[in-house]
Amino acid sequence: MARIAVLPPAVADQIAAGEVVERPASAVKELVENSLDAGATAIDVAVEEGGRHSIRVGDDGVGMERDDALLALERHATSKITSAADLVGVSSFGFRGEALPAIASVCRLVVETAPSDGAGTAIHAAGGVITEVRDVARRRGTTIVASQLFYNAPARQKFLRGARSEWRGVVDVMTMVALTRRDVRFTVSNDGRQSLALPAAHSLRDRVAALWGSSVADRLVDVDDVHGAIHVSGLAERPADVGTASRRTFLTVNGRPIRDAGLLRAAEAAYKSTLAPGLRPSLLLDIVLPADAVDVNVHPAKAEVRFRDRWVVERAVEDSVRRALGTFDASAALGVRTWSPSAPAWSTARADVELLRPTDARPDGLFERRSDEADERPVGVEDETESNAAESWRPPEPSFPPAPVPEPPPTQHVPPLLQLRRTYMMFEHDDGVVLIDQHSAHERVLYERFMGMLERGEAPSQRLLFPLTLHLTPAEGEAFEANRDVLVRLGFEVEGFGGHTLLVSSVPMPHPRFDAERCLRESLAALAGDRTPSSHARHERLAATVACKAAIKAGDELSPAEMRALFVALGETRLPAHDVHGRSTIVQLSWPELERRFGRQ
Ligand code: ADP
Ligand code: MG
Repeated sequence: MARIAVLPPAVADQIAAGEVVERPASAVKELVENSLDAGATAIDVAVEEGGRHSIRVGDDGVGMERDDALLALERHATSKITSAADLVGVSSFGFRGEALPAIASVCRLVVETAPSDGAGTAIHAAGGVITEVRDVARRRGTTIVASQLFYNAPARQKFLRGARSEWRGVVDVMTMVALTRRDVRFTVSNDGRQSLALPAAHSLRDRVAALWGSSVADRLVDVDDVHGAIHVSGLAERPADVGTASRRTFLTVNGRPIRDAGLLRAAEAAYKSTLAPGLRPSLLLDIVLPADAVDVNVHPAKAEVRFRDRWVVERAVEDSVRRALGTFDASAALGVRTWSPSAPAWSTARADVELLRPTDARPDGLFERRSDEADERPVGVEDETESNAAESWRPPEPSFPPAPVPEPPPTQHVPPLLQLRRTYMMFEHDDGVVLIDQHSAHERVLYERFMGMLERGEAPSQRLLFPLTLHLTPAEGEAFEANRDVLVRLGFEVEGFGGHTLLVSSVPMPHPRFDAERCLRESLAALAGDRTPSSHARHERLAATVACKAAIKAGDELSPAEMRALFVALGETRLPAHDVHGRSTIVQLSWPELERRFGRQ
């Protein structure tokens, strides 16, 4: 007796419907994607009872001839691919030819469509069976109404949630679609009340502002970077704003919205050392890569993709976001920013912290270790003209590993810097007034330098004329033993001296006022009891701790040369706008904001 039978098409469609249409929102998604594939420039979505009662999607796309419209309701009927080879690099949203028949099989469906203004076709179907075909007059495009979802599949209908919950699902889907296709005008309504009216937008930022308001758009910095064949663009939340409002994430790969925890994690890794633990940033990223580097046909709702080389894509994402966070635009602002959603932004933000980064002046003092006789000169007395002449600057000798020097040395001056409250450096910039927290900034500089030393293994240090003897508490002693190898790599040369006594003969020299004993003691106290396992994480922890202890403090008076040195060194860091605890190092007050406050605008 035969026990295996091929399912009748209607049953197969219903099973497929289980994958494609779980809820009204998923039917909306499929219908709207069909409209987009049909080249629509305007799409109107109207649901009733959150889609439980009916879903109507109207578009101004290419429409269908009658024969095509009839065929479209057949399973695996698609105009988008003709062979399996077409699957590689398929750029339409649909290609499986499943959605329309699947939706039709579980509702009452009306398709009205016309390939040009005038004569068109109306097709009525119930439970996947066509009940009526007639002429209609309409504009070019297609309108599909799906009502009484799951009326013939009671088991599935039971799983529908309340109208409000289903409506929320529809809004989520439409938000995602609207973020993906900024060029298309959308309206979305429920029970006759319009909730989204989105004009065609020029940029992701404009669409974000239209969806969630400009205050949300204001919190985001532009990401735009190319790594090999991978282009990453979009918006990333400014670290100083992370955690103060709800988090939003959105990813597309080759124009297709996807879920991908790995890519998000990679993007978040770029925030490392700028955020307090537990905070997660908003990220909206478009990733474009060669079609053959990604497989889109791995998920029934096409919500996931598979990369040929995931690692490369993740690194590109991380690097791009990190670069965006390294721009001046990523620093915290007081009041309004200079740009508005329509004006492209002061953030020609792709240029890295232009105002911080390049300079021909290479003042020493704080950062460049000088030869011993230079140490005897009081900091800040060096000749300004000397430091302005690029040739006259020589790399410091025994020295710290020099931070990567931007080449070719651009000829730009460090702006005049003013120290305020022995805590902040202030300067004027084309776009506003800028304040730098001297401790946070120095901490960032040292952190990146220490990390470079730990991971590259160079250990510059300065021998002490008289070795220091330190008596440690048992906890400090234990912390020393646990971190001995990395402390040595930072430039501490230390011998155990029996019991808990240390003999320190060399120390790193981040600046002339570096208090080696205090730094070592405070670092050991902070590290005591730390059980961070991986060596990279330990390096980060140690670099952050020692940087914090070694950095100049609020209250330290800085000479003009020291301020310039800090300014230059900060500009050379990867994330100048943020210290290692996620606080801002740079705060800006834009001229427009200032003018607003003085009533000049
Ligand atoms: P797929 O989108 O995977 O091709 P569907 O079942 O969603 O499969 O649609 C089947 C076909 O119907 C599409 O390939 C397309 O030719 C046609 N179609 C569906 N919706 C529309 C629309 N709104 N405008 C024009 N053509 C459409
Ligand atoms: Mg489709």
